[in-house]
Amino acid sequence: MTFSTLGLSEPLVRALEAKGYVTPTPIQAQAIPTLIEGRDLLGIAQTGTGKTAAFVLPSIQRLVAAGKRVLPTHVRMLVLAPTRELASQIADNARGYAKFSKLSVATVFGGTSINKNRQDVSRGVDILVATPGRLIDLVEQGFVNLSMIEILVLDEADQMLDLGFIHALKRIVKMVPRKRQTLFFSATMPTSIRDLANQFLTDPATVSV
Ligand code: AMP
Repeated sequence: MTFSTLGLSEPLVRALEAKGYVTPTPIQAQAIPTLIEGRDLLGIAQTGTGKTAAFVLPSIQRLVAAGKRVLPTHVRMLVLAPTRELASQIADNARGYAKFSKLSVATVFGGTSINKNRQDVSRGVDILVATPGRLIDLVEQGFVNLSMIEILVLDEADQMLDLGFIHALKRIVKMVPRKRQTLFFSATMPTSIRDLANQFLTDPATVSV
């Protein structure tokens, strides 16, 4: 199996070859074709499985195919992550995969200067990777607008709940359009997480690795 046979476009396959990735990991093989179709996804997977590429690559392909950002404040894809470390790591990966495209990537997280965050988003962002609390601050201050989100990703949802982000997550989901693609990843799937996933997802495909 190759990345091409999963349905990824030539520029993305070349970006992967440049990184030395030849064979898709199991979560990539299962998730990428489904995500290219635009379906919602419930992913039960840990970090280290190749999860980031599994959700970033098909998303880039869909964003490129769908067109352009309308206004600078309108973000097109939002990735929520529990910690600054994970958010930075996802953003670094996304920047690498998005290199060939004209899509811009930014990351914002708590514990750093909000002025720097404002600068980072002020020129417009296609893909924003954020921790929930800091994102809400930026939305409330008018620097980020979530009303045109096409793809919403919740990464490490179990960690986000453990860190007390449940209220923030529900607020953010209310700010994004109903008509969107939603991806929900968690390493564990207790009832509380499954209930939350059911609230956010519509007819999802499930992958478990
Ligand atoms: P992740 O689970 O997304 O944190 O990815 C774990 C590590 O595997 C990262 O360092 C990726 O760069 C790397 N990786 C992801 N997909 C592949 C692949 N198909 N082949 C080789 N390495 C990969």
